[in-house]
Amino acid sequence: MRYLTELSLEAFIEAARNVPYQQISSELFPGIDLWIRRDDLIDPLISGNKAYKLIYNLLEARAQGKDTIVTCGGAWSNHIHATAAAGARFDFHTIGIIRGERPPALSAMLQDAERFGMDLHFVSRVAYRGRNDMDFLAKVGLACENFWFIPEGGANELGAKGINILADVICETSPKQFDECWVASGTGVTLGALAVGLPDRVKLTGVPVLQGEKSIRKSAERWACAKGRERHFDLVENAHHGGYGKCSLTLLSAQRKCEALGNLGLEHVYTAKLFCAAAHFAAPIDGNKLVRKNAAPKRILLLHTGGLQGRRGLAG
Ligand SMILES: *Cc1c(COP(=O)(O)O)cnc(C)c1O
Repeated sequence: MRYLTELSLEAFIEAARNVPYQQISSELFPGIDLWIRRDDLIDPLISGNKAYKLIYNLLEARAQGKDTIVTCGGAWSNHIHATAAAGARFDFHTIGIIRGERPPALSAMLQDAERFGMDLHFVSRVAYRGRNDMDFLAKVGLACENFWFIPEGGANELGAKGINILADVICETSPKQFDECWVASGTGVTLGALAVGLPDRVKLTGVPVLQGEKSIRKSAERWACAKGRERHFDLVENAHHGGYGKCSLTLLSAQRKCEALGNLGLEHVYTAKLFCAAAHFAAPIDGNKLVRKNAAPKRILLLHTGGLQGRRGLAG
């Protein structure tokens, strides 16, 4: 696996171009020409779609001479992890505002973040609700100077702009023309921004990993309306297995089977739900109650959006 070693747009796009595609043939996906784009491999620590959402934020912070990145997230946030790693790599001080009181034992994720040099600032769940307010930092008692703030999950304009790189590179480097492209969806930024960048002939499907598909749809639609063009995507319903971070036996079993397909790691929060949903539409899995309007597809690209550090959250 390669590392992003340099903070430059050119180097990042080059790394994105070199992300491999992997073809999967398995009875789990009968009659489907299935490929995976392995953005988990773009960097071992600044992984998956979070790398794309960070790139323009980091470039802008550097251009403006900011030496500190402040962001926020939960105890298993891939965005916090990626931001901490990026700060260590590219010489930014990082501060992570973490939802909830400091636990007696830090999650493996937060231990990593501290090891990467991130200052963790725990705030109550109530205070955390104000994370999108202008005076959030003051309210949680953080006095920072010369900092660049990135919202939870990397969900800002520059984050969406970074996802456009992903869409462009998919168009440029796909091994074939896909009918469909599928991605796991949390905030909906990745889904919405991909809808803007991918050509109309590719049907884009999001797999919501949490309850509240309506809010994901709304958020993705907002990001998909960029440049005054409304772009369409499909959402799978009931793919969340009980909610964010929740797991089911059906999910675990699908995760194990899919991981065995080809040197592939998945985690239960995002990518296993994506694979499980896709497999279900190829050949229904007992215990799944998924709903989708379209007929079964033929040539699918699944986006592996990384986040494997979260795999450790299942045991703990
Ligand atoms: C954050 C994340 C997503 C979801 O991205 P959104 O833009 O928030 O919808 C998907 N997969 C992985 C692995 C993630 O870490």
